[in-house]
Amino acid sequence: MGQYMTKYLFITGGVVSSLGKGITAASIGRLLINRGLSIRMVKVDPYLNVDPGTMSPYQHGEVYVTDDGAETDLDLGHYERYTGQPTSQKSNITAGRIYWDVLHKERRGDYLGGTVQMIPHISNEIKERIRAIEAENPDIILIELGGTVGDIEGLIFLEALRQLGADVGRENAMYIHLTYVPYIKAAGEVKTKPTQQSVAKLREIGILPHILVCRTEVDLTDEHIDKLSLFCNVPKECVIVEKDVETSIYEIPLVLVEQGVDEQILNHFRIARPTRPLKDWQKLISVIKNPKGTIKIGVVGKYSELQDAYKSIYEALYHGGYAAAHEVEIVKIAAEDIEENPAVLDSVSGILIPGGFGSRGMEGKIRAAQYARENGIPFLGICLGLQCAVIEFARNVCGLKGAHTTEFDEERGVTTEHPVVCLLEEQREVTEKGGTMRLGACPCVLEKETKAFEAYGEKKISERHRHRYEVNNNYREQLEKGGLIISGTNPDIGVVEMIELPDHPWFVATQAHPEFKSQPVLPHPLFRDFIAAAIRNS
Ligand code: GLN
Repeated sequence: MGQYMTKYLFITGGVVSSLGKGITAASIGRLLINRGLSIRMVKVDPYLNVDPGTMSPYQHGEVYVTDDGAETDLDLGHYERYTGQPTSQKSNITAGRIYWDVLHKERRGDYLGGTVQMIPHISNEIKERIRAIEAENPDIILIELGGTVGDIEGLIFLEALRQLGADVGRENAMYIHLTYVPYIKAAGEVKTKPTQQSVAKLREIGILPHILVCRTEVDLTDEHIDKLSLFCNVPKECVIVEKDVETSIYEIPLVLVEQGVDEQILNHFRIARPTRPLKDWQKLISVIKNPKGTIKIGVVGKYSELQDAYKSIYEALYHGGYAAAHEVEIVKIAAEDIEENPAVLDSVSGILIPGGFGSRGMEGKIRAAQYARENGIPFLGICLGLQCAVIEFARNVCGLKGAHTTEFDEERGVTTEHPVVCLLEEQREVTEKGGTMRLGACPCVLEKETKAFEAYGEKKISERHRHRYEVNNNYREQLEKGGLIISGTNPDIGVVEMIELPDHPWFVATQAHPEFKSQPVLPHPLFRDFIAAAIRNS
């Protein structure tokens, strides 16, 4: 038996950003899993933030949360949605984290007074962090480098990836370069020059790509492929055309498998595995292309956040639609608008309130929950969305006027009269540090004969969290007397995890973020049942 060696697949990007490198990397991951290989995926980000948890959602889209509580880049969401494999703290490496660690070591004297330099100290730190994943024994580690070749910040990372390839041996490393091949309208021509230059830049650093994935808006002819192959020094069958897809980004795995990307990778690594059709993805795409109908879902958030901050929520809604062979049309509704006119909700068949942190729009969200309850509109509340539903129920069903969360007391300059949602230490003596975020996977036990149990089909579940405030257990009895069903509870700390309403077509809310675990080929049960209820309601 030959010595076992983890293989390394590096994915870099050239010419311009926003080509969908994360989706391409994730799709390749899917193809490899389909060939029976075990993989790990890592996103390396050359920016200087130590972790993305503190980055503005306006600049960076949502913060994606892993099972082990890492607050990370949303690319990890693509990885999980396409591969179905959980990511972790180790799946995201930022330049900020690398520099931070090296400088700490320097202060601690770990370098014994030596001169600390980009090479070898920073490059070694990068390599060590990536190689630490070998301990998990995957067949292949996929490393996606953020940014574009030629970026100043990216240089040291490219150097580290080059060295890593040499360290593990050429036959164990493979480089894929994602590039852009523009069509110049005025000239009526496709141009390969930017790609040639981007590959030349890579070669200058010492990286010779094995596969080129060419993003384009038009079809490429044999002549273009010949040219790219010749000038970029890549065999023709390794020039892959990734033309803009018509209906859905979930088509990418099929586009890549048709051109034998997985075959090329296996050949390079000398791994023999039988081919297998991507049956579930073929079925998925045929459903996406031939929907039985369209269903409108209203997502009620802060106006400014509605664009990118809810990526996983939107995807999970689409997935729920796939389960019922329906296209989901997402109607983004600014919570502020509902305060004055909740009737804007009449146009949708289901209402979702996502997570959130600011007080703005709170009353509109609470009003939206009330509207859904009173008018029998299917409702899914996520995190802050659950808190809004509980506040609404307390005020308007249990008669607890002034019920609210204590989260905004300071901002509002008041002390909430009925704190139905508050910090754990405001409800009881707790030993753990106050106000800390509940982050990552937490267990939940479901009550039988509830919609939650019906959806999950099991009693013990686990979902990811990212919040500080909880339903106040001191009000639990009153809420339950009023008719609220507590359908899920955390067995470790006894807090409310899920609620629902009886005598309503489908009104369910969860303190967790189930959207992070939904996949197109395996829609999350809550989103699946929510969409199904919305379809019945339409
Ligand atoms: N702001 C609320 C809390 O911290 C909800 C957070 C969320 O929705 N993710 O509890």
